[in-house]
Amino acid sequence: MTGLSADVRPFRLPLRRVLSTGRGHTRHRSGLLLGISDGTHTGWGEATPMLGWSPASVDSTAASLAAVSAAVSLVDDPSDPRLDHLLDDLERAPHARAAMAGALADLTARRQGVTLAAVLNLSAAPAVPVNAMVSAEQPEMVESLCADAVAMGHRCIKIKVGVLDVASDIARVEVARATVGPGVELRIDANGAWAVDTAIEALRQMAELGVSYCEEPSDGIDAIAAVGSHSDIPVAVDESARDVDDIAKALGTGSIDVVVVKPQALGGPDLAMRAIGLAREFGASAVVTSMVDGAIGVAHALHVAAASGIDMAHGLATSSLLEADIGPAPRVEAGMMALGSAAGLGIDPFEVLPS
Ligand SMILES: [Mg+2]
Repeated sequence: MTGLSADVRPFRLPLRRVLSTGRGHTRHRSGLLLGISDGTHTGWGEATPMLGWSPASVDSTAASLAAVSAAVSLVDDPSDPRLDHLLDDLERAPHARAAMAGALADLTARRQGVTLAAVLNLSAAPAVPVNAMVSAEQPEMVESLCADAVAMGHRCIKIKVGVLDVASDIARVEVARATVGPGVELRIDANGAWAVDTAIEALRQMAELGVSYCEEPSDGIDAIAAVGSHSDIPVAVDESARDVDDIAKALGTGSIDVVVVKPQALGGPDLAMRAIGLAREFGASAVVTSMVDGAIGVAHALHVAAASGIDMAHGLATSSLLEADIGPAPRVEAGMMALGSAAGLGIDPFEVLPS
């Protein structure tokens, strides 16, 4: 018997422009591509920790992946139960786990000749709506980016707030609403920047602007729930929930209406599907997002979104933020992202990765 083989390759992806959020500024994304091969098919996974957000660094993720990569040679089937123990060992290394679980799931799908989404849910959607993201400080820039997004066919736009003062946040959401008209969904994301009182007041002042929900108005599950219990605009938990247990805690407050599910941050497609199921049990909504990942990470999030059964717009249209990528990223057309019919993830990485 010849076992599976694993290959880990580093990459570094420059951003087209600095990404500013309530949690700081990012100029590039560094990560690791994991390939797991059975000699015929190769499944792909990606680990791209984000500085300031993720509990793991690229170096610690590389060490985690090196440790488990050796062990995959002991099995010859991606569904071998011994691999579950390897995944359990990566509980504290969510990006490494996401790469490992993702590569194994992709390999399984390719061996079966079906899409990864179909492995997760037999009645997965062929395409999902995606939101545009607007992270700009000047109202004129917000106006032009919103107009571009609508012209490209997006029916949902997410605006980053919390970078400057509240008055400028409100001004930018006003400009966005005036630009897109009443029929386009607007969401905002403060990335935890506001104090609870500030958030409640900011959302009160935005109540007339038709904001569908606010992600991370304040920092931490309890603070977000406190805002949610005093706001007519629903609130969402994103980076304050680091794992499925955190998501259960957030939903249990009864004041958080939406969970943002990042397969990369939670530890892979299986855990992302578990989080989506929890949201459904609590009567809450979920949206699936990438983390400005490379193309393989975006494709994984796309397949989870397609398998989720959720018809809200997902946060997957992030590849245009990158100057270079690790593969042909899933394309956005008329505000939708489609799976295609190829087996597994439907894309393969480039031979040479940007470094
Ligand atoms: Mg967010």
